[in-house]
Amino acid sequence: HLRGKTALVTGSTSGIGLAIARAYAKAGAHVVLNGFGDADEIEAMRKTLAGEHDVEVRYHATDMTDVAAIEAMVAEVEAEFGAIDLLVNNAGVQHVAPVHEFPVDKWNLIIALNLSAAFHAMRLVIPQMKKKGWGRIVSTASAHALVASPYKSAYVAAKHGIAGLTKTVALEVAESGITVNAISPGYVWTPLVEKQIPATMAARGLTEEQVKRDVLLAAQPTRQFVTVDEIAALALFLTTDAARNITGALQVIDGGWTAA
Ligand code: NAD
Repeated sequence: HLRGKTALVTGSTSGIGLAIARAYAKAGAHVVLNGFGDADEIEAMRKTLAGEHDVEVRYHATDMTDVAAIEAMVAEVEAEFGAIDLLVNNAGVQHVAPVHEFPVDKWNLIIALNLSAAFHAMRLVIPQMKKKGWGRIVSTASAHALVASPYKSAYVAAKHGIAGLTKTVALEVAESGITVNAISPGYVWTPLVEKQIPATMAARGLTEEQVKRDVLLAAQPTRQFVTVDEIAALALFLTTDAARNITGALQVIDGGWTAA
């Protein structure tokens, strides 16, 4: 159902963003990949995605904390494809430290990447979406858009900020055929999480199962990781006609975390 449309997915060289980019390409959208990583691996990924789904796939290495670079990327993509019909604000990083020791540069980075980048991308793509009378904006928030955990002040502040930004922009474009939503995952199984397991097993003298269940998934009642494909399926549903009245919503997908 996305044939002929163009999607920009930030932070899509890995994890959740890559899964959403795949799902959108599978549904027929041209896709602009963004994020960091090994140039050869990204090029291979780009070719595979384009070849498997018969769509155009581009890659922009744009640092999403660089406002001028975001402006240049959006202008370039719109010049080539006419408009960005689907925007996924997904690039994000984490830093864990008590607030009185929180490095100021990490605070600034997390607010710039996890919050301000979404503002810039939204303000830049909305004029063309309005002209076409159709658009879908999805931001990857977090359970931390609704609840807090200690030592994650910047991340929790940014994700709560995404919740407010999502609601505000949704109201502004409500009559323009554009929906604006956030997806709030709990703990997601990504390579990033997988890599932490051996060290935690060694540090705490636990088995792999104990680390997953009692350390990582302590806050998630299902005691199961959310998968990137589950998030991509939700992000894809939000682009369908059936979801046209879902806007300004925080779609929680967290194994019951925020119900507790
Ligand atoms: P990931 O590390 O696998 O992917 C992050 C992506 O962002 C990568 O493509 C990376 O290259 C890119 N990136 C990093 N800095 C960037 C920058 N300055 N400019 C552009 N791109 C940049 O992580 P993930 O788990 O897939 O996380 C994606 C999003 O999901 C983040 O916003 C994260 O906060 C959110 N999230 C993740 C989880 C989880 O448990 N993994 C849970 C809730 C929310």
